[in-house]
Amino acid sequence: MAGALSYLEDQVRELKEQGIFRPLAVLSSPQGPRAVIDGKEVVNLSSNNYLGLNTHPRLIRAAVEATEKYGAGSGAVRTIIGTMDLHLELERKLAEFKHTEAVLVFQAGFTANTGCIPALVGRGDCIISDELNHASIIDGARLSRADIKIFPHRDMAGLEERLKEAEREGYRHKLVITDGVFSMDGDIAPLPQIVELCEKYGAISYVDDAHASGVLGRNGRGTVDHFGLHGRVDVQIGTLSKAIGVLGGYVAGPRVLIEWLTQRGRPFLFSTSHPPAVTAACIAAIDVLLEEPQLIERLWDNARYFKEELKKLGFDTGVSETPITPVIIGKGPETMKFSDRLFEEGVFAQGITYPTVPAEKSRVRTIVTASHTREDLDFALAAFEKVGKELGVI
Ligand SMILES: *Cc1c(COP(=O)(O)O)cnc(C)c1O
Repeated sequence: MAGALSYLEDQVRELKEQGIFRPLAVLSSPQGPRAVIDGKEVVNLSSNNYLGLNTHPRLIRAAVEATEKYGAGSGAVRTIIGTMDLHLELERKLAEFKHTEAVLVFQAGFTANTGCIPALVGRGDCIISDELNHASIIDGARLSRADIKIFPHRDMAGLEERLKEAEREGYRHKLVITDGVFSMDGDIAPLPQIVELCEKYGAISYVDDAHASGVLGRNGRGTVDHFGLHGRVDVQIGTLSKAIGVLGGYVAGPRVLIEWLTQRGRPFLFSTSHPPAVTAACIAAIDVLLEEPQLIERLWDNARYFKEELKKLGFDTGVSETPITPVIIGKGPETMKFSDRLFEEGVFAQGITYPTVPAEKSRVRTIVTASHTREDLDFALAAFEKVGKELGVI
């Protein structure tokens, strides 16, 4: 019996009655372009494993060798005795890759944000944040105790208004935060304009490149590289969990920022560091990005093809400019029905609804990867066409 937690029974029942309670899909194969999900082999359009690196032989070999040499776990937080030479090697490699003075790796992209934002600003400061920024940015901002101002999505007039307001109100530091690529719509932040406004108003610029790491810019260096803004963005967050194929997040920036975070980035100080296998696989992944750029080309070829064909079928794919393509259905329950029918037809594409996106903008989100074959994509498109007609979406 739930006892004191019985109120949760009402809350869970409500979600189920609204048709928006999602059971966990369970994978019993590698996270690949085709995967066994809930016991059925399907074309997988929901993975962040953009380049297929999670099963790349070089990453697997690096993970196995590091495990044999250093063991399964790291045994301490970084600041006690959990820093191995491997951790430093990865940070050096990432700093060189990103063309920044230094990098600090966190356990995840999520903790990179919740660790970094409160270390940068606090009471008396102001955070100015795009309304569609990731949950980890929202949580990091709340943890910081700084005042938070939200600007309408990618709206530069709105951003400038908030900056002027913050200036009038006399905050000590102003921190402007944006996702580099927005995870639900696949659009790209107008970073050159954001940087200009930050420079004009003396604000700190902060971009979270989780969905751009390994995807945008030369060899997947991210949005700063994509827009040629090296040296003009103060803080860059990257993830090692998506296109890099492993797990982790990192902060790239000036050395003093990294030094400060080793003293005040709470998840860095109070949570155990990555296992050797994770770190070694990430090191191998950066080598692959540098040496096998054809993976990124294939990713973009697939993304262009799939997006174009969905549009030809008559679907509303929103404003996507990246391999993330939302297929906007409308209401939550219809969206879940669409996703369920796709699954029956052999395609996994997660339905996404409130509170992740506004209820009336519910969508089936698709992500193509470099590992999908043309045959996989055509199979998925045929399923979208069939289900779309059946449910009156197209
Ligand atoms: C996925 C994501 C994160 C979290 O990264 P993890 O490494 O999975 O914790 C952070 N920020 C953004 C914008 C993301 O899309």
